[in-house]
Amino acid sequence: MNLPAAGRAAEELLAEIARMKAHDLPVRGGQVTAYVYDTGRAEVHDAAIRAYVEMLEVNCLDPTAFPSVVEMEKQVVGAVADLLGGGHGVFTSGGTESIMLAVKAARDLAGRPDPVVVLPVTAHPAFHKAAHYLGVEVRAVPVDLETYKVTARAVREAIDERTVLVVASAPSYPQGVIDPVEEVAAVAAAAGVPCHVDACVGGWLLPWLRAAGAHVPPFDLSVPGVTSISCDLHKFGYAPKGASVVLFADPAARRGAYFASAAWPGYTVINATVQSSRSAGPLGGAWATLQALGREGYEALGRATLEAARRLREGVAAIPGLRVLGEPESSLVAFTGSDVDVFVLADEARSRGWFLQPQLSYAGIPANLHVTVTGVTLAGVDAMLKVIAESAEAARGRGPVRLPDGLVELIAGMDLDALDDATFAELAASVGVDLRPEAGGAGMATVNTVLDALPAAAREAVLVRFLSVLYS
Ligand SMILES: *Cc1c(COP(=O)(O)O)cnc(C)c1O
Repeated sequence: MNLPAAGRAAEELLAEIARMKAHDLPVRGGQVTAYVYDTGRAEVHDAAIRAYVEMLEVNCLDPTAFPSVVEMEKQVVGAVADLLGGGHGVFTSGGTESIMLAVKAARDLAGRPDPVVVLPVTAHPAFHKAAHYLGVEVRAVPVDLETYKVTARAVREAIDERTVLVVASAPSYPQGVIDPVEEVAAVAAAAGVPCHVDACVGGWLLPWLRAAGAHVPPFDLSVPGVTSISCDLHKFGYAPKGASVVLFADPAARRGAYFASAAWPGYTVINATVQSSRSAGPLGGAWATLQALGREGYEALGRATLEAARRLREGVAAIPGLRVLGEPESSLVAFTGSDVDVFVLADEARSRGWFLQPQLSYAGIPANLHVTVTGVTLAGVDAMLKVIAESAEAARGRGPVRLPDGLVELIAGMDLDALDDATFAELAASVGVDLRPEAGGAGMATVNTVLDALPAAAREAVLVRFLSVLYS
């Protein structure tokens, strides 16, 4: 930025923001099937925005200075606890932070020098991140390749005296299936180990799907052996981003998530979250969204979501060359292609104005595309299916991405740290990847094909370099 010599007027700034957003994917309307959650009800989002702005400058750092934070947080956490089997919670900035706190609490309560967290391979990377930050080792357990669920037996075999936490997902994000929570929690409890249920995406969804008639097995804190659960309100709570809740069955475990420091001569620090100074805007936005929708609002969204997910599953299954993975029990649907390259399909859909989220092959699960069905999807599900069918046809015509001979081997063998950002950008350009915003994601199929061909560690190294080039 060229810091302006003199301050500029708000109107001018907003016009400039509009220009910067010109190539963004739309956040409303249902054509972006990941990242954003739209109720289709503008008045709900407007209420959230107004409450967010109202609380924006309040600092959660010191709840004694701003009692509104305590009252509002108790209400929001209380609503989540009412829905998910009780417990004592913390309002956080998102699923990652909720999971970070659950892992920290488990680690600190166990007090072992060599802690291990046991999780299914389908568990969210937030656990790997938490483990990495907190000095905990990850022991990943494979899932059944028909159902994409972990088995309690595999979890039991992975638990040993070093295990401080066992994880199950309700549902896991990649295929939208629910791990057998009752059985996993039982083997954890039998071994005296706490069990966290990652209901980040499902916590504020599954109860409404159940109310709409879906079969949803018990998954929350009411299940014996489940000791903590995470639930993102900025997903199916439809709250603005920065809103999640982590609940602990035992108040002592919640204290394990807290951090206090009096080891300096400044103000005393007592934080319930990773962040210290923190805007109360997201809390206000979440509070207002829950109030603006109410039980009836969420039930109606649940019915629409269930119906849309059913139509999407059936519609995709009817498109030649496509296959839904597993039997999604939530509204997350993943599909793969037999004679269709799904990465090319995603590029084709994007050029038609629809974003479908690519997922790389991993642990025996094929590359696929992921759709998060939300309340707004139903109105456009036929249009989405038409685009998927057309894109599949076009992708079949184009054939799979053909990478230059030796490219994958070259990248796999490359010392990425020795390369500078400019050289990496040239390499990307040489295979047709255009990183400029106006390219609208063109050539992503190539990126995904390269990544898909690499082992996980090399994928991670390339991704880190990709991000640093994007910001260079
Ligand atoms: C989204 C998600 C997370 C992480 O949440 P963020 O809010 O993106 O940090 C964790 N687990 C599951 C199952 C998720 O879907």
